[in-house]
Formats: sequence, structure tokens, C-alpha cells
Amino acid sequence: MSKTSISFYGAAGEVTGSRHLLQTENGSLLLDCGMFQGHRSDAQKKNREFSFPPASVDAVLLSHAHIDHCGLLPSLYRDGCDGPLYATRGTAEITGIMLADSARLQVGDAQFFNKIHAAEKLTIEPLYDEEDAKRALAHLRPVDYDSAFEPLPGVTARFLNAGHVMGSAISQLDIRDGEKSLRLVYTGDLGRQEGLLMETPSVPAGVDYLVVESTYGGRTHEKLADAAEKLAEVIKRAIRNNGKVVIPSFALERTQEIVFILDRLFRDGLAPEIPVYVDSPMAVSLTEIFHKRRDDFSFDDKFLAYAKMDGDPFGFDYIHYVRAKEESQALNNRKGPMLIISASGMCEGGRVLHHLRNNIGDSENIVLLVGYQAQGTLGRRLQEGQKKVKIFGLEHEVAASIETMHVFSSHADNGDLVAFVKAVNPARGVFLVHGEPEARAALTAALTAEGIKNVRSPAMGETFDLD
Ligand SMILES: [Zn+2]
Repeated sequence: MSKTSISFYGAAGEVTGSRHLLQTENGSLLLDCGMFQGHRSDAQKKNREFSFPPASVDAVLLSHAHIDHCGLLPSLYRDGCDGPLYATRGTAEITGIMLADSARLQVGDAQFFNKIHAAEKLTIEPLYDEEDAKRALAHLRPVDYDSAFEPLPGVTARFLNAGHVMGSAISQLDIRDGEKSLRLVYTGDLGRQEGLLMETPSVPAGVDYLVVESTYGGRTHEKLADAAEKLAEVIKRAIRNNGKVVIPSFALERTQEIVFILDRLFRDGLAPEIPVYVDSPMAVSLTEIFHKRRDDFSFDDKFLAYAKMDGDPFGFDYIHYVRAKEESQALNNRKGPMLIISASGMCEGGRVLHHLRNNIGDSENIVLLVGYQAQGTLGRRLQEGQKKVKIFGLEHEVAASIETMHVFSSHADNGDLVAFVKAVNPARGVFLVHGEPEARAALTAALTAEGIKNVRSPAMGETFDLD
């Protein structure tokens, strides 16, 4: 009888909160420990309880440094986990920055919320603080791509390039189960076939079970080539209106992608120059790593060639990297036109909330959404065209124009996902995670039509025996 099983405790029918627990005859291995994002009260509840005892986790594998994959590691290690935390070198380095920042945001947002709701005696507690983040980071064990390690006795693991963000990995696990062994592969988030900065994802072979993300099941991305043209159009409009363009952006990858496109636009004279502020201490730190380490990671050849020719693909005359809080606040009083790129990407926290609060009420301004907006987030409410939104619990009229560009996704689209699963051709089954119900249904249909068998959409908390 099989002693190996996998349980899905997050990103099951939704896109955030990735946590998948693998049980073998020798212990428990957690694949990712992400934060749920969504409505404040709902997310708070989901982020305050694990559906398994943290102390029972013997080791953790981290696919990449996005908060919906690593954001609850501080809670996990505070609440009893003491096992090693494996990640690629790139992910390990970035996770250090992400978790320290996440802890500061938790504490800062709670203080601000409690201050403005003092009269109503409404309070929220931060999920964790910087000490908790440090405790988690102390367990990090960075490993190279394609090199074997043993997170549990009887489990041999390898990280393969996932092509999603710097350091992102597909986890390939060879699991001994009694006399037999099986190969399970977890994609984490999977990059596009044609990306802007990263190389295309590796394709593992000899796979029995594949746990694959499904964010863009049923959808096809616009071509990346169109991104520059659209961005140039927004810049021209901002200059005409003397407006501000607020771009909520993931600090990791999306910010560097946009800055890279701007760099090319300005260099080639395809858009008039406009002051650009990257207002996120984390994005500033991450861009430095991108710049410093660009020869060490799985970057796309075309990007590397441009970087070599340009010398500094993330810097140009009109860009200002903003770290200090005072400098960030000073942007409120500065006249447009300007571009403000600020985190978080789904408008769930961070400095972008202050920029939205200050600029969303003016019709000459533009909010440009450039990333996936999960259900329940402020970004999603803006995208859906709501005319009144709450920011820090206070209502604001939406007068600025809200625009969306889907083109920047660093996720595989439906065609990429189908091609990947077909190439892997898993012998015993596919589990779809990290997708909303419609996306999973569409991908299931597309895979089944291609002859892929045993495609499952696990529910939250569901366990499957692997044999
Ligand atoms: Zn991701």
C-alpha cells in the first residue's frame, strides 16, 4: 500500500496561498508556504491558521519568491516548523528582501489602519513581524539549479528553471515508496514560452504526477511586442493631460520588465521622455540584484544582448529610484506628468495605496493595471470598474481612468500550459492548482481534448494517495 500522498492547503480553486503538503513514509515536505490575498477580513482569517500542524513539517521547498508562495513562511517557522528551507540561490536572495518587506508592511499597515479607525475602536494585528521573518530566513538552504539534494530521507529533489521570475524553479521529486519510486513534479508558477526577461521553462521527463499551475487556463496573452506601443500611448496621454500615471506593480519582475521597456522606448525615441519614479524600497533592492546578477540566472538571450549593448537596462536619465518615505510623500505635491511605479501589484498594501488615495479622484490621472488582479483585491475592484472603492477603510470616488494591460504576464497562457503538459506527458495524473474555477475548467477541457488523462482539480484540504 502506498504511503505517499499529497494534500492541497491553498491555491486550490484560487490563485493565492500556495501550500501543498507531500507525505512520504519518512516525513512531510511542504511545497511553498504562500500568503492568501483578497478581502481583508477573509484573507486575515485564512492567513492565521494552517490546516496542518507547522511542527509536523520536516522540510520546505520554495518555488519562487512571490508573496503568494513564500509570504507565510514567517508564521510557519514561528508556529513550530524547524526544518530546512530549500530554494534556488536567486530565490533565497530575493526571499530575504521580500519577507523583511512583507513584515514591515504588515506592521505599518496595521498601525495606519488602527490609527484612522481609532474612534471606532477597530483594530487589526500584523500577521508577523521582522523577527519572525528573520527566524524563517535562518532556515534557508540555497541550492543550484539542476543539482540533486535530499530534503527528506528517500526523496531526491532537483530545481529546474521555471522561467517565471528570477530564481523561479520547477521542483522535481523522486520519491521512494517501499520497493517502488515515483516522480512528482510541481511547477510552481510557470513562465511563458516567449517571455521578456527569462528563458523558457525546462521540461522534465519521466514524470508520474504533475502539479501544474492554471492561472491563465482558457486565456491567451496578447503579444509582448504590443506592450511598448501601449505604454507609449499612455505616456503621451499623461503628457497631454499633465496627469499622473500610477502603475501598481509587483516589485519582482514586473517592475523590471516595465522599466526595461521604458528604457528601450526612450532610447529608441519611440516615446517622449517623462519623469519615472520607482517608489518601492523593495523594487529598488530587487532591481539592483537584477542588475548585479544578470549573468548568473536564467535570463533570455535577447535581453542579455540588449543589456550588454545598453550597459544599464534598468536605468536611464529620467528614472528616479525612491527609497525614503519622505521622498515618496513628496511625490504627492509634485505636478505631473509623471509615471509612478509602486507596489503592491494587486493594491493590497504598500506605498501604492497612498498614491491611489491621492490620485484616484482626479480625472486627468490614469491607473494602469499591469498584473493579475485576484478576486477580492482592490486592484480587481478597480479593474471591474467600481466607481467607489475603500482604501484604508475610507471611501474614495474613482475619477481617474482605469486601464489594464494583460500583456505583461509572467505566467504561461492556455496554449503554453497545454504545450507544457503535453511535452511532460505525466504517466499517472495531473493536478491543477493556482487557478480560479473557470480557468481550471477551461484548462481541464483543453488538456482532455489533447488526450491527457486523470486531470484533477483538487479542492481546498483534499488529499490524494500517490501510487
Ligand atoms: Zn509567481
